[in-house]
Amino acid sequence: MASYDLDLFVIGAGSGGTRAARIAASHGARVAVAEERYLGGTCVNVGCVPKKLFVYAAHFAEDFEDAAGFGWQVGDRRHDWPRLIAAKNAEIERLNGVYRRLLVGAGATVIEGRAHLEDAHTVVVGDERYTAERILVATGGWPTVPEFPGNDLVITSNEAFFLEELPKRIVVAGGGYVSVEFAGIFNALGVEVIQLYRGPLFLRGFDDDLREALAEEMIKKGVDIRFNVVIDCMERNADGSFVVDLSDRSTIETDLVMFATGRHPNSRGFGLEALGVALDDNGFIEVDADWRTSVPHIYAIGDCTNTIKLTPVAIKEGHILADTLFGPADRRMDYDAVPSAVFSQPSIGTVGLTEAQARERYPEIDIYKSSFRPMKHTLSGRDERTLMKLVVDRKTDRVVGAHMLGPEAGEIIQGIAVAIKAGASKADFDATVGIHPTSAEEFVTMRSAEPEPAQEAAE
Ligand code: NDP
Repeated sequence: MASYDLDLFVIGAGSGGTRAARIAASHGARVAVAEERYLGGTCVNVGCVPKKLFVYAAHFAEDFEDAAGFGWQVGDRRHDWPRLIAAKNAEIERLNGVYRRLLVGAGATVIEGRAHLEDAHTVVVGDERYTAERILVATGGWPTVPEFPGNDLVITSNEAFFLEELPKRIVVAGGGYVSVEFAGIFNALGVEVIQLYRGPLFLRGFDDDLREALAEEMIKKGVDIRFNVVIDCMERNADGSFVVDLSDRSTIETDLVMFATGRHPNSRGFGLEALGVALDDNGFIEVDADWRTSVPHIYAIGDCTNTIKLTPVAIKEGHILADTLFGPADRRMDYDAVPSAVFSQPSIGTVGLTEAQARERYPEIDIYKSSFRPMKHTLSGRDERTLMKLVVDRKTDRVVGAHMLGPEAGEIIQGIAVAIKAGASKADFDATVGIHPTSAEEFVTMRSAEPEPAQEAAE
């Protein structure tokens, strides 16, 4: 039997790689993890964590305004961007340390540097060569910027987290999570924001009612949203600003252009191709239900595969894989009803099927919807509405989707997700007593289904 230095070599110490390495080591496996950039990967360094800190910072703008309706006099206020960046950087550094301690504490070896696969059992980092029985690729992804003249002048979310100063004006291109979140952050911090999306309505794949309602709310808050348009080309002016030509023949002057048009997998340039590891047409590493690639003993999880690209999904994949390879449990990942949130302003929380998806899957569905002004805004005077929606399979009475636009949507939908995962029926929702006064209680007090679309048209 061949002998190896290690039982598992993990390439990439992001969310998925770190969890897999820790759990494998805690099961007694000899584990090393190589990271070329930052411990914690995208989520901790240039993703979920700093983004959420920015969302908190941004929300104070409205909180100060809303306070007046409750009798507060809030004096002059000014946001200090460099101070926010410094505080955020300090917190991220703390988390980098936490990640290191978690790995080392579990018994894994942390190696700084870019790993290269020499063969299916040998990884080279710098001058060191390591042999491992199994290799796990958890290399994540990187922002994609489409080709157009001037595309080298744009920034992505990677740079947005380290801007030295806030621009006066910004163009945000894209219609996914990152673009709506950053459009909201910049807008609340006083930047004039134009958001461009190539289709008729952003957040493709989310429930249509939420997409429309979010667009309305963002427009009310001052974001200049332009649909059905892309950037044709851009140039830098002598004063450092930019002139941007759009596909609708209009031109924009701006101080910064940020692209949030998706991410591509980090799957090339470190030896996978030479080993014959199969990639799909978009460069994602192909894996089976147990995250095995086409080469025996090489596994891949997280954003470098074509999975649901969310941190908790990568973490669960890493955990299950490590348990299966080195622990007592042999488990499979359940990708059904994965909840998620968009930290837009207001935020979105969602789990299960959208109305459109449910109409394709079930012959008859019922839609329960509630749109209301949250209690806080009766006194604040803010014109912002919350939307909640349940999608129910009429035949079984099962709630197959729950969607919310409004404050704390992620916090609320996380709890609802447990009910949906457990197969709760609408009758179970109805039998649950509400917590009063909350917005969340609407989810258990929606009594009448919407009229069918055809019926509605006939009325
Ligand atoms: P997404 O894949 O979510 O969205 C990409 C957006 O860019 C879509 O609106 C897409 O349009 C548009 N787009 C793609 N290519 C082009 C192009 N060539 N020209 C113009 N527009 C284009 O990517 P994000 O960058 O927003 O987010 C990356 C990943 O990070 C996501 O997969 C998400 O899962 C994850 N994420 C999760 C967050 C959360 O959970 N809160 C927060 C941030 C990121 P179209 O829809 O028409 O294809």
